[in-house]
Amino acid sequence: MNIEVKTSQETELIDITQRVKEIVRDAGAKDGLCVIYTPHTTTGIIVNENEARLREDILSALDKAVPKGAGYQHDQIDHNAHSHLRAILLGPSVTIPIENGNLALGTWQSIFLVELDGPRKRSVHVSVHALQRI
Ligand code: ZN
Repeated sequence: MNIEVKTSQETELIDITQRVKEIVRDAGAKDGLCVIYTPHTTTGIIVNENEARLREDILSALDKAVPKGAGYQHDQIDHNAHSHLRAILLGPSVTIPIENGNLALGTWQSIFLVELDGPRKRSVHVSVHALQRI
């Protein structure tokens, strides 16, 4: 299943937790794994707390870790090397256990698509893999 997201900022965190939960519920797996994957080179997938100031902190920490326009080779052809490098730090996927039909997320955990070169149309692939208990 794909989740389509239209981002509206250059960088932003989009909470996709409810949409992933619906896909897991519809899949009907009791025990398994859910893989949430983004097929883009300038987005990331993370699990963390959805708190407004923390969302700002995450984006500003990425900005400090990989500043825009710091003499990157790729900027000579595409002007978004910082977006690719930030995406590499976050990674393109997360895997979350499914227990008793639900994502085993902690109380404060949400799933985010992180836009790093927006605004753009993005897609997130969500696959559910049922496990047989032994
Ligand atoms: Zn590029």
